Amino acid sequence: MAGPVVGVLALQGDVREHAHALRACGAEFVPVRREHELSEVDGLVLPGGESTTISRLLETFDLLVPLQKRLADGMPAYGSCAGMILLAREVLDGRPDQHQLGGLDITVRRNAFGRQVDSFEEDLEFAGVPGGPVRAVFIRAPWVESASPEVEVLATVPDVPGAGAAAGRIVAVRQGSMLATAFHPELTGDTRVHRLFVEMVRAAV
Ligand code: GLN
Repeated sequence: MAGPVVGVLALQGDVREHAHALRACGAEFVPVRREHELSEVDGLVLPGGESTTISRLLETFDLLVPLQKRLADGMPAYGSCAGMILLAREVLDGRPDQHQLGGLDITVRRNAFGRQVDSFEEDLEFAGVPGGPVRAVFIRAPWVESASPEVEVLATVPDVPGAGAAAGRIVAVRQGSMLATAFHPELTGDTRVHRLFVEMVRAAV
């Protein structure tokens, strides 16, 4: 069976690593920079990068409104880090001119792990991902400050040394066909989170 066509928003950020992971999960990968490319995909990954920059480029490339519309129409999407920020209904510590794509009823805090803590790594229990903990790499990451009851919490930061104020924070969520992680599974070579998303896309087509 041919895999679903999964796009990666390719305006900025770590597109290539997501492409590798998606192909490893049997999906057909398409980079998305234009509206006609967006119209060809069954699902979309919003990569890590800088949410304020991606937000600005979405306007430049005339993708903001078409993407908001496809998400509202139920296209499955997976946002990692900056991607999670873009999918969130509300952002704390964002820039006033930064646009939200909507879809996830969560409030995220940008750069939540603190200015000094540029990156943090930990093994997390991840609901819906079989085979044991997932190595989570956080890079200037957000966390989920609050989530509506419709949102399924898939992972939180365990209370380990070094976690500091991040202990107990929500860092992976699902709501319907939307998935988001505050961390970067595409950087570890473990494709289980992408497999979960590709299965969500497969189920939706
Ligand atoms: N701090 C970035 C932002 O605000 C996200 C960092 C990342 O995607 N690794 O968009």
